[in-house]
This record gives sequence, C-alpha cells and structure tokens, in this order.
Amino acid sequence: MKRAAAAADADVVVIGAGAAGMMCAAVAGQRGRRVLLLEHARRVGEKIRISGGGRCNFTNLASGPQYYVGEDPGFAAGVLRGYTPRDFLRLLASHRLGWTEKHRGQLFCEQGSQAIVDMLRAECARGGVRWLHPCRVRELRRAAAGGFELDTDAATLRALRVVVATGGLPVAAIGATDWALRLARSLGLRVVAPAPALVPLRLPGDELQALHDLAGVALPVRIACGEQVFDEDLLFTHRGLSGPATLQISSYWQPGQALRIDLGAGREVGAMLAAAQRHSRQSLLNTLAQTLPRRLAQSWLQRHGLDPARRVAEVAAADLRRLAQGLANWAPQPQASEGWNKAEVMRGGVATAELDPRSLQCLRVPGLYFIGEAVDITGWLGGYNFQWAWASAQAAARAL
Ligand SMILES: Cc1cc2nc3c(=O)[nH]c(=O)nc-3n(C[C@H](O)[C@H](O)[C@H](O)COP(=O)(O)OP(=O)(O)OC[C@H]3O[C@@H](n4cnc5c(N)ncnc54)[C@H](O)[C@@H]3O)c2cc1C
Repeated sequence: MKRAAAAADADVVVIGAGAAGMMCAAVAGQRGRRVLLLEHARRVGEKIRISGGGRCNFTNLASGPQYYVGEDPGFAAGVLRGYTPRDFLRLLASHRLGWTEKHRGQLFCEQGSQAIVDMLRAECARGGVRWLHPCRVRELRRAAAGGFELDTDAATLRALRVVVATGGLPVAAIGATDWALRLARSLGLRVVAPAPALVPLRLPGDELQALHDLAGVALPVRIACGEQVFDEDLLFTHRGLSGPATLQISSYWQPGQALRIDLGAGREVGAMLAAAQRHSRQSLLNTLAQTLPRRLAQSWLQRHGLDPARRVAEVAAADLRRLAQGLANWAPQPQASEGWNKAEVMRGGVATAELDPRSLQCLRVPGLYFIGEAVDITGWLGGYNFQWAWASAQAAARAL
C-alpha cells in the first residue's frame, strides 16, 4: 500500500544500482548518511557482470579527460583526479581481489566480474545502505517542505537528496532506460542528444557486396573520423565493421560522415610494393599477403582490377601506386550504427554545463545529482567508462 511519508525516509535516495549507483550509495552510507538504493531490474550490477567478457575491464591505468568524449570533456578532469585508478585498486586489494593488465593499461578482475558486483554490495552493506529492489520510480518532484518526493512501485518516498545513477540507453534487456534523460528534460535541464557509442557500424549494400568474403578478417589499421585518429584492430563482419578500431571511432562518427581507414596501419605499403617490383619474383597476391591478411589482399586486388597471379615485377608502377593509395585511403561511409542493443555505452546525456564539476549536483536543482553514464561524459574503450562511473560516484558521495 502506498503512503506519503511525513519525515524523510532517507537522507539520500540513489536511483539505479549499477556501477555508479552502488559506489555512491556505499560511500555516502559509510560517511554516515541514511541511504536508500533503488533498482528496477531483477539483477543488480548487470552491466558490470557482462562486461569485459565476464572479467570486467574495470579501469585503465591511464586517466584523464583526453580519454573522454562530450561537449566539454575537461569537466571530467577534477572528478577523475579526485578518484584515480589507483584508488580503485586499493579498494580491490582490501577485498583480496586481483587484477591483470591487458592491452594498453586495461585492467581486468582476476576473480571475474561478479566479484566486483559482490564487492560493491559488500561496501553497501558496510555503509548500512537499505535496498528497494526490484522497484521502479515513476515520478520525482520537489517537495514543498524541501527535498524530494518519489513515486515508486513500493511507496511514495521522501528524501533530502536524490542521486540519479540510472545509466544510459544501451541494452534495454538488462534494465537500461532513458529515465535520467526524461527526468532532466522534465526539470528544464539541457540534454545532449544521446546516440549509441562504442558500437559496430553497418556498411551500405554495395560496399558489403564488395567485402562479402571478408567477414571474420581482422587486422591492425589506422582509422580516422574528423580530427580523431586511432591505431587499433579492425574486424570485418557480415554487416560491416567492428573490432576496437570501429568501436573507438564510432564515438566520433556522425551519420553521413565517411571514415578514413589506412589498411596498412601507417606502414609504407607503396614503398614495399615498389621494392618488390624491382627485386621479387613473387605474384602480386603473395607480395601483398606479406603485409595484409591474404583474403583482404585478394579482395583489394580485385577491387583495383589487378590480377592476383601476375608477377609483381610485371605490374605497371602506376597501378602499384594506385593500389597502395587505395589501401591507405579507404573511405567507407557507414549507413548506420548497430544501435542500442550492440552499443557498449551512450554518447550524450545530461549536459555538464548543468552540473557542478566538484559534486555533480544540478546547478539549477539543488539536492539533485546525476552521475555515471547518464552524464554527457563518454569514455573510450578500455575501462574508461567504469572509471568515470567510480569517480563521479565518489565526487557526489563526498558532497552528500
Ligand atoms: C556489453 C557491455 C560491456 C561493457 N564493458 C565495459 C568494460 O569492460 N569497461 C568499461 O569501462 N565499460 C564497459 N561497459 C560500459 C559500462 O558498463 C557502463 O558505462 C557503466 O556500467 C555505467 O555505469 P552506470 O552506473 O552509470 O550505469 P549502469 O551500470 O548501466 O547502471 C544503471 C542502473 O540503473 C538501473 N535503472 C535504469 N533505469 C531505472 C529506473 N527508472 N529505476 C530504477 N533503476 C533504473 C539499471 O537497471 C541499472 O542497474 C560495457 C557496457 C556493455 C553494454
């Protein structure tokens, strides 16, 4: 039965028991606040559990706003300095959890991602956090007497402060909603248009047809969109492009833009072909396959109308230059991203200009905080999104 509580049910209600919400609730509770943590999905911390192939790439040794996308990535600088990857490692160590470093500073949990969820739950217990789960919030409004009222499935709650940690739109099947964005708009706050990010990209039919036998081929490339450049691995799929290179650049790509891809990954393929032309007795295909995956080499020779079996020494120098330029300047124009179900993260969100950079409190709605993925700060691939979740949660919790 619903009731309207006369006194506040909690000092702080945190909405969303994901990475940011659990961290914020735990720290606020440990600082002596009466915290109620509310989650609508059947399982809590589900994105943590499915992340990093079940091992959770929970942070990156590199930290700083340069690894983030948004209207003003510099907003994140102070928040990230306030809680660093080393701080999170200390927390792991206090729970006797180990970690391994993989590619480029990416840290994974040795005991698996569920251990991180369990750790955050234990930290919440240490802070005396009370749970309302599963429970959906329908409406939040400012109370006449100060603080907020929340209509939920369970009751109408009163809280002095509310932290919105409901994340972004990717993967609705495990609880993702646009609730934070709807709430922000209803309060007159500006929201930067959300879009899927860290997401595979689809290629148009004619391009796909030309690439149809390349699905599964992976290679290092240099990929660019606008000013942004990444040196990462590209994967061809049945629908277009994936792999770390595509996921990274997808956060910068806008519909209608072409990508710039150097399939030689910055190597001098033209010089290599010219040298082979002078000295080698090999076929064009065998020559190119020393630098590129064989299936890709075959496909690119066909694309340029060159006979793969022809000896490289017999090919005109102009044709070799054309081939090398084609490899270095492939400019496919994706037709769309693979959408919210395949995206790892949301780009856009509550505009940082609406928030205090020290506490993530709304400048125009005192007592209301937005943290984690709901905010217009989107990390690169490699643990940066969890680091933002931990750091923004800590910043808010210290201010509550
Ligand atoms: C497949 C996949 C793999 C990923 N791997 C990594 C990785 O390895 N490293 C990395 O850094 N990042 C990774 N990410 C991104 C990372 O998971 C998110 O950026 C991070 O979880 C965001 O934390 P958050 O707390 O803001 O949101 P979430 O962790 O999404 O938590 C939001 C919570 O709010 C709940 N909620 C939503 N709406 C409501 C509502 N109305 N009422 C109550 N509760 C609500 C949701 O159910 C959820 O539990 C991955 C994402 C995906 C999808």
